[in-house]
Amino acid sequence: MQASQVFWQLTPDPAPAPVAAEGPLPAATAVAVVGGGLTGLSAALTLAERAVPVLVLESGALADGASGRNGGQVLTGFNVGIRDLVRHLGPDTARELWRQSVAAVDRVAEWVERYRIPCDFVRHGNLQLADSPATLDDFAAEREALAAAGVPAELLDREETSRRLGSRFYVGALYDPLAGGINPYRFALGLAAAAQAAGAVLRAHTPVTAVEGRGPFVLHTPAGRVRAETVLLAANAFAGALDPFLARRIRRLEASIMATAPMPEALAARVLPGRETAFDNTARLRYFQRTADGRLVFGGRVHDAARRAAARQLSRALADVFPEARTLGAAYLWSGPIALSRDGLPHLGRTPSGLYYAAGYSGHGVALATWLGAQAAQWILAGTADWPPWTALAFPVWTADERRSAPALVAERP
Ligand SMILES: Cc1cc2nc3c(=O)[nH]c(=O)nc-3n(C[C@H](O)[C@H](O)[C@H](O)COP(=O)(O)OP(=O)(O)OC[C@H]3O[C@@H](n4cnc5c(N)ncnc54)[C@H](O)[C@@H]3O)c2cc1C
Repeated sequence: MQASQVFWQLTPDPAPAPVAAEGPLPAATAVAVVGGGLTGLSAALTLAERAVPVLVLESGALADGASGRNGGQVLTGFNVGIRDLVRHLGPDTARELWRQSVAAVDRVAEWVERYRIPCDFVRHGNLQLADSPATLDDFAAEREALAAAGVPAELLDREETSRRLGSRFYVGALYDPLAGGINPYRFALGLAAAAQAAGAVLRAHTPVTAVEGRGPFVLHTPAGRVRAETVLLAANAFAGALDPFLARRIRRLEASIMATAPMPEALAARVLPGRETAFDNTARLRYFQRTADGRLVFGGRVHDAARRAAARQLSRALADVFPEARTLGAAYLWSGPIALSRDGLPHLGRTPSGLYYAAGYSGHGVALATWLGAQAAQWILAGTADWPPWTALAFPVWTADERRSAPALVAERP
């Protein structure tokens, strides 16, 4: 097992040229973006393409937060099913949100192509796996609600599921043909390079320690201060450290994930030959995809665990589905920060002190962070008071009791 190495960051080898993100801080900018993950980089790209001066301030290395450390599943929808959304937000808002989530995956595909980003993006769909007939019945109802919203999805029986998956562990699946898989780190770096080429200034290893003012703002960093007309907080799980409004609405959870050694030929011939991504809704919350070099990137409900324990728990969850994979082990093991909102939805809005934010993807943000970063940029450009439907959504507060208890990966329904 390699020491805390993120598989996505080490492949392909050799890596493309790094994006330059060093140098003196400009004294002023039109828009300062706090956070260099998918949200921040997508916003910076969108603003720079419209010739708006934009500065990204990232406390660590670019894309080394959740954006470079996730499962690489480019999913439609949210960490909440469409029926829940219809029930709580009404059919019009629910369908509009879902439409945007599909547009989010389209946007990823479009940018991969437009900027020629080498990130192994394949759009072969996602299998949402059912471990019981009752769950499959539930998926059937979800499929109908998706169809009513104009979203195609297919219910697969046990035979078809095991043929695609290479395992008889599940009783069926809900297949979403619009989803895909990606090396999320390479994708994020591709956005960074495109943003920089369009004129954005990127500064890594530059933490924002405080934001003062109500517009214009002054951002404090160890490298100096920057004055900005507008600020976008794109710090996701960490956004609460800079703003009390977000501190009460977003909880951070550290989740472990691994990449196995390459599968032996016989196993590789059977497991996900069509390269769909996959996840289940069981207590273990397994999610996995097959990589271009025949590994499985595999994550689950393993939080804040020591490395050895995390490797053991993930390997056990993997072996339930693919017993022969037990010996593959965790060739790479890492963790990343998940930003949980109480309703499981991401939120785009402005804090009482006037800071724009987009955050709270609740483990479902590769496509949505790319999308909401761009939406935030478009809202800033539009200069309007509201940005429907996002700003019409309530952003619920975690209660003090909930904040004290251990968070679950799937947040409560709205
Ligand atoms: C283990 C794991 C697996 C996941 N799997 C999937 C998946 O398969 N599919 C999916 O759709 N989603 C998945 N997600 C969620 C997805 O990765 C995130 O929703 C998405 O990357 C969020 O992007 P972001 O840019 O908002 O946040 P981040 O990528 O976390 O970026 C925020 C950045 O802000 C920086 N920052 C924080 N504070 C400051 C500060 N004060 N000053 C400057 N910079 C600061 C951080 O260093 C960080 O780089 C997963 C997440 C994890 C952790």
